[in-house]
Amino acid sequence: MSDFITRLARPDILALEPYIARGGYDGSVLALNANENPDAPPGASGPWNRYPAQQEPILRARLAALYGVGEAQLLMTRGADEGIDLLLRAICAAGEDAIIVTPPTFGLYACAAAVQGAKTIAVPLDEDFAIDVQGVIAAAQSPKAKLIFLCRPNNPTGGLISRAAVLDILENCPDQLVVVDEAYIEFSDDPGLVDDLESFENLAILRTLSKAYGLAGARLGTVLASAELIALLRKVLPPYPLPAPVLKEVNAALAPVNMPVFERRIASIIGERQRVFTALATSSFVDTIWPSCTNFLLLRLKDKDTIMRRLQKNAVAVRDFSSLGPDFVRLSIGNKTQNDSVLASFDVDGAARQNPRTATVRRTTAETDICAAVDLDCAAPVSIDTGIGFYDHMLEQIARHGGFSLILSAKGDLHIDDHHTVEDCAIALGQALCEALGTRAGIGRYGFILPMDEAQARIAIDLSGRPNLRFDVDLPPGKVGDMACEMVPHVFESLAQHLGAAIHIEAEGHNTHHVIEAIFKGVGRALRPAVQRTGTAIPSSKGVL
Ligand SMILES: *Cc1c(COP(=O)(O)O)cnc(C)c1O
Repeated sequence: MSDFITRLARPDILALEPYIARGGYDGSVLALNANENPDAPPGASGPWNRYPAQQEPILRARLAALYGVGEAQLLMTRGADEGIDLLLRAICAAGEDAIIVTPPTFGLYACAAAVQGAKTIAVPLDEDFAIDVQGVIAAAQSPKAKLIFLCRPNNPTGGLISRAAVLDILENCPDQLVVVDEAYIEFSDDPGLVDDLESFENLAILRTLSKAYGLAGARLGTVLASAELIALLRKVLPPYPLPAPVLKEVNAALAPVNMPVFERRIASIIGERQRVFTALATSSFVDTIWPSCTNFLLLRLKDKDTIMRRLQKNAVAVRDFSSLGPDFVRLSIGNKTQNDSVLASFDVDGAARQNPRTATVRRTTAETDICAAVDLDCAAPVSIDTGIGFYDHMLEQIARHGGFSLILSAKGDLHIDDHHTVEDCAIALGQALCEALGTRAGIGRYGFILPMDEAQARIAIDLSGRPNLRFDVDLPPGKVGDMACEMVPHVFESLAQHLGAAIHIEAEGHNTHHVIEAIFKGVGRALRPAVQRTGTAIPSSKGVL
């Protein structure tokens, strides 16, 4: 252990001989060494009769890459909340040591300290919710102060302490561990302090999958710190802390094909935060809104009773923050529809569109893993990565000419050939379009295109709900780019099936690349009027599509 850890940690924990649990089960031996049952329950979705690994290696590697640290610098815990608890238990001796917090801030630091029997020294933020750096450094002169918690961005105020302020504290508090809680950092434009771990052995960072990655129910957080501090925390980590079904779910959720969709969702929460901020600033019920780098806004209201009553009537729950003052509430940012219902309670017109037509499809088989997200009422972004350059270019034509947003990532068995990937992407696209169309109320339904000047493709589409493909094109054998020509009819067969559409395609020309490109563009052009909302009625005399 380094000098720093020796000075910092509880002496009894340093001396502790930790409890040794068997590692995870890898199936390589007949494991009769952990008193497990030979059988999982009937219908279980995995080998849950086996104890999981302490730190499951695939997920740990994934998180280390996501956060940009080495695997030895990362500890996975049940939420960042458990990381806070482990730090307190390994470092603060009951009845002796203390932590420093900067209220108003996340209440769990002081609560976890109280459970451990540690004292809390408060260095409050000023009236503009700015940190008192000199006050923190002065409080750290106490030899009993072991931990300094800095929430960055801060909950509940939403602001971000500057990196310079944190470095000032790190440099001037060499006897304390500075714990920077980055639970909301993904919603800010700051990269976080991960790169400073190299320079400061007294820095630890908390990250979580709960907020930006939509995994609050899975309970997965991480502590990022020096390998020595991580080794210390492992001494107090309970055996097998993370349930095996959680590890399986989280691993699947963080697969590379999902990452572009996470990025898009984080960007749209930031966009919504700005929209809600601007709209609420015009409301006569709002006294103050603080700028936020998170997925929530802190508000001081003018007529809180009225707003609370209206929100309750609209079945919207917000967090009452009376601890800051009688008129404070904290509002989480939801999706457009949810935010509009908040704005309506404040008598401001959100002017967001009604009934968003979006869908995200994740399709995982032994051959391919695909994530496709569409937004029929938004032309951007279009971002395609199937691993087949020519096909990326073609799918991009469908979305751009169709006038809708498409994010599609695939990881397929391209070492065999392009067949599964091409077909399965078309299935996922068809499913996503079908789901986004919903009841198909109000759509144009029909789309068609007559000769394009080059290569002549003629496409007719009916979003009838009844799959049918007529493909009248002579394509030569062989490939265009890295995609086999024979896959082209397959794409539209899969699309027609899963979108529930009649698609008729005729095309001819001299250059195969041009013919295929004209077909994909033409399908996009034909989809454009077909998916467009032109009214509210179901466009069928049957009244159903
Ligand atoms: C939500 C939150 C956490 C808790 O994260 P989990 O990983 O869900 O335990 C930690 N710190 C702050 C500041 C939070 O707001």
